[in-house]
Parts: sequence; C-alpha cells; structure tokens
Amino acid sequence: VWIDLHAHSTASDGTCPPAEVMARAAAAGLSVVALTDHDTVAGHVEAAANLPAGLTLVPGAEISCTLRRHGQRTELHLLAYLFDPDEPDFAAERDAVRDDRVRRAQAIVRRLQELGAPVTWEQVRRIAGDGSVGRPHLARALVEAGVVPDVPAAFTEEWIGAGGRAHVDKHALDPLRLLQLVHAAGGVVVFAHPGAEVRGPIVGDDTVAELAAAGLFGLEVDHPDQDERVRRRLRALAADLGLRVTGASDDHGALTGHRLGCEGTEPAVYEALVAAASRPPVSAGLPTS
Ligand SMILES: [Zn+2]
Ligand SMILES: [Zn+2]
Repeated sequence: VWIDLHAHSTASDGTCPPAEVMARAAAAGLSVVALTDHDTVAGHVEAAANLPAGLTLVPGAEISCTLRRHGQRTELHLLAYLFDPDEPDFAAERDAVRDDRVRRAQAIVRRLQELGAPVTWEQVRRIAGDGSVGRPHLARALVEAGVVPDVPAAFTEEWIGAGGRAHVDKHALDPLRLLQLVHAAGGVVVFAHPGAEVRGPIVGDDTVAELAAAGLFGLEVDHPDQDERVRRRLRALAADLGLRVTGASDDHGALTGHRLGCEGTEPAVYEALVAAASRPPVSAGLPTS
C-alpha cells in the first residue's frame, strides 16, 4: 500500500492533465493519490472519471495562506482534504484566492517589463493554459524570453523569488480562518512542507502550535524539499503537539521531474485522516461485465 497525499495537475501549475496524473499514479504503484491543485477543485471531476482500477482518489486542494504577525508576512500552504466542494463560504474564499492569482501575476508582469524583461501577459496566459496562473508560469515565460537559463534561476532575488525585484504580495488569507472554513466544509487540514526553507521564510513552532490548537490534523514531514535534519525536527514537533505525520511527492509533472510516489504516508495515518473527514475518498468503479 503506497499513499501519496499531494499532487498537482494542469488545473493549477502541474504539467499533466488530471486524467494523466491518475494514470501516472497507478503506473507508479500507488494505491491512493490526492489531487491537491492550488486553490481549486477544478481537476477533481476529470480525475474521478478516469481512475484506473485499484487506485483511490483523495480530492483536495492546496490553499495559499498568509500569516501576519509582528508586522511580518509569511506565506504558507495548507492542504485541505475530503471537504464538501459546494460548501459556499470555502468555495467563495477559493474564488477570491484564485482571482488574486491573476491580479498578482499581472502585477508581476508589469514589474518584469519595468525591469526590462520582454514578457507579456498574453504569453503567461498561454503558458498557463487552463490552469490557475502562478509563479512557475511566469518563470517559464522568463525562460522562453531568454532572460534566465532555467526555471530555478527565475526564483531568485534578481527576479520573482521571495523578496525579489519583481515580487508582489498575495491576497492574505489567515491560516486560522482557512482551518475554520475547511472544518465547516467537513474537511481535514495538513500543513504542506512546513520546513521547506528553500521556498522562502517558514513559520515558527509557536504558529504551528496555534494551528494545532485550532484543529490542524498533521504536518507534511516527508517532502522532497525537506532534508533529514528538517524532517527530524518536524517529527519531534508533531509528536509534541499531537499532530500526525504525512509524506507526499508534491509532483508537478515535468516541472518537478515526474516523481509521484517518491514519498509516502503511513496507512494508519491515512485511515485516521479519512475517519476525521465527513466525505469518503473516491474509488474506481468495479468493471462492468
Ligand atoms: Zn506548496
Ligand atoms: Zn504543492
């Protein structure tokens, strides 16, 4: 039994359509995969309709939040699983976060143009296709325009990295508010890559404790962007706070290297997650004879 609780499709910034993500999950030997596109549930219907036999889908979403404490803004990602996608308050908040992605991406394009980079909004829109636009699309536009040699080179202070010359702040959804919204929609929340310092500033243990007190289910410990030292620290923190530990690939298709199933979650943790949620995961229909 191999369980991967974090993957992206073209519904956000992954490079494979949802059906292909499901096919790749089965090919990678997974029994359970979560589809957790940024701020959207748009890929769930296609994924559910294209489940290979023996694969279970956990519908989810990765929600961008902003913690504002002591005059500082820290971005964090929370994974919401098995919630009611039609619950109106959470659905409205996902819409607000998504609308903001467009505003933000357009503002970044304007900054990049001011800095002399020959990128356009039309180009970024084309690269994003049907997906909700994000910084990886802007990075690919910078590569296409010959401004940087590759995607990582765009995520620096020189360009669109945290604190970079073309950085623009996001819509601020407080993580405690997000927990309320997901719980009201019957879902479960896991803190995505909480110690991934390569992605920018991380929140302190006091914040994790605050989220734990508000009903956070677990910490994503086994993640490709977290090394052994970070994982040990997070495992100890999870034990202290009574949080579960999950593992996942955070696969984005070609963008991250196809890596579905490179990390996994213990079956007992998965079962506890399902038990804590109000909606069941989705299994492939039995073949009709
Ligand atoms: Zn993330
Ligand atoms: Zn992710």
